[in-house]
Amino acid sequence: MWFRRDLRLDDNPALHEAARAGSGRVVPLFVLDPKVYGPVGPNRRSFLAGTLAALDRELGGTLVVRRGSPATVVPAVAREVGASTVVVTRGSGPYGARRDTWVGEALAGDGLQLVVAGSPYLVTPGTLRTSTGGGFGVFSAFLRALERAGWPAPLPEPDARYEGAPSDARAEDLLAGVASPGSAGLPEWWQGLPLGPAARLPEPGPRAARSALERFVRAGLDSYAERRDDLGVEGTSRLSAYLHFGCLHPRTVLARAGTGRGADRLRSELAWRDFYADVLWHRPQSAREPLQAFGRHLRWDEDGTARERFIAWATARTGYDLVDAAMRQLLEEGWAHNRARMVAASFLVKDLHIDWRLGARWYMWHLVDGDLASNQHGWQWVAGTGTDAAPFHRIFNPELQRQRFDPTGSYVARYLGPEREHRSGGTGDAQTAPLPGLAVAQASPRPRLVDHAHERAEALARFAAARERARLSDR
Ligand SMILES: Cc1cc2nc3c(=O)[nH]c(=O)nc-3n(C[C@H](O)[C@H](O)[C@H](O)COP(=O)(O)OP(=O)(O)OC[C@H]3O[C@@H](n4cnc5c(N)ncnc54)[C@H](O)[C@@H]3O)c2cc1C
Repeated sequence: MWFRRDLRLDDNPALHEAARAGSGRVVPLFVLDPKVYGPVGPNRRSFLAGTLAALDRELGGTLVVRRGSPATVVPAVAREVGASTVVVTRGSGPYGARRDTWVGEALAGDGLQLVVAGSPYLVTPGTLRTSTGGGFGVFSAFLRALERAGWPAPLPEPDARYEGAPSDARAEDLLAGVASPGSAGLPEWWQGLPLGPAARLPEPGPRAARSALERFVRAGLDSYAERRDDLGVEGTSRLSAYLHFGCLHPRTVLARAGTGRGADRLRSELAWRDFYADVLWHRPQSAREPLQAFGRHLRWDEDGTARERFIAWATARTGYDLVDAAMRQLLEEGWAHNRARMVAASFLVKDLHIDWRLGARWYMWHLVDGDLASNQHGWQWVAGTGTDAAPFHRIFNPELQRQRFDPTGSYVARYLGPEREHRSGGTGDAQTAPLPGLAVAQASPRPRLVDHAHERAEALARFAAARERARLSDR
């Protein structure tokens, strides 16, 4: 069983298939592929390392961890342990799909088989089609199709005997290597910026995931539909990192959530995750390029001032409380509330006129739940260039958003308030040390980087010009 983004034993169709193929005998393998983990920031690395260690414990210490290219490593381990079949959960991202083709071919060369069972989603990306046979571009239609298609009930843990590999080096060394941060491929001018690790990350592993789900179902689900946008409370599940690494399957989450208003809302939020994976499956270039053609004609600021502004945004110094609190939460927790992500992303794109791809990169580096499909398409949605995007003239006003979603000021206070000076558990990094002397929940006394009304007009002008350029170039 070659584990990837399915790091759990329960509700894992691939693991069932492995147990069946091996008559109950399963060798669990995880490959640290430098192509996947090279560009990953310290938060996701540390969460992954912790999750692998937890999974290893659940597997009785048998998890085989190897580093290298899967096309070499997987056949080598399969030969070593005498496997005839390697089973995986479907990898649907652009690289994952290619990688599985190469590995399948390499295994076939040795007379072995790569078997794919299940996917990390409710419905396997690429499966649902519109009446004309294409992929969905509109979320509401996708949601209807998803609900019509349905998904199976969760599976229990399979009956399996787990065995390691004879030559297995102890996983700890490799796991220590996973956790240590790299900065591969980051813009050179990001050096000196706070690149993590965050002070507070969720407890990793499948068992912690199940506990988080139980906590949420008991304490948060009933009010989820009403409170998920409320920044001042713990109103959301915080399951995203567990879902990303497959410590939980969304099927399990929905089965446990049952029925009711909260469960309905949760199903529709999880459907966004499926939707974005489906869009990426149909249009892999959407990870890097605007989905709407006019987006290629947008003019972004890239000069020295733009860099300074980016740095102010990334280090929580825009002078807009909600934007800064969001960016501070991201630095401290490797996670930010969805509303905060949206407002801060909108500010970068629409107020600072900086390319969404640069902001997406910053988020991806820091987010413990960083996920190519959800992140890139979340950014495109905010930027107005995505599938089913918010119209470009819908520009978040960070002050109105603060008044509406943090009316008591408790969110801003938590991340920017003066009492932070006395809080422990910070990163110790001067760049993320508490900002001095901030007043809470009142008109921000700090200088503002830009004037929102002015930049809003500028953004509208740029978007109109991009649409016009796109129209002319289509002629
Ligand atoms: C600019 C931007 C970037 C984002 N980047 C990521 C990312 O890298 N990884 C990621 O998992 N989510 C991303 N999101 C979506 C969303 O912000 C997070 O999924 C959510 O905040 C996670 O917290 P939660 O688990 O408490 O969410 P809950 O509200 O409890 O939702 C439950 C689950 O539904 C899924 N979900 C909810 N909202 C969305 C959404 N809008 N898009 C996709 N899935 C969703 C997630 O898997 C989430 O864990 C991004 C959103 C924006 C606006």
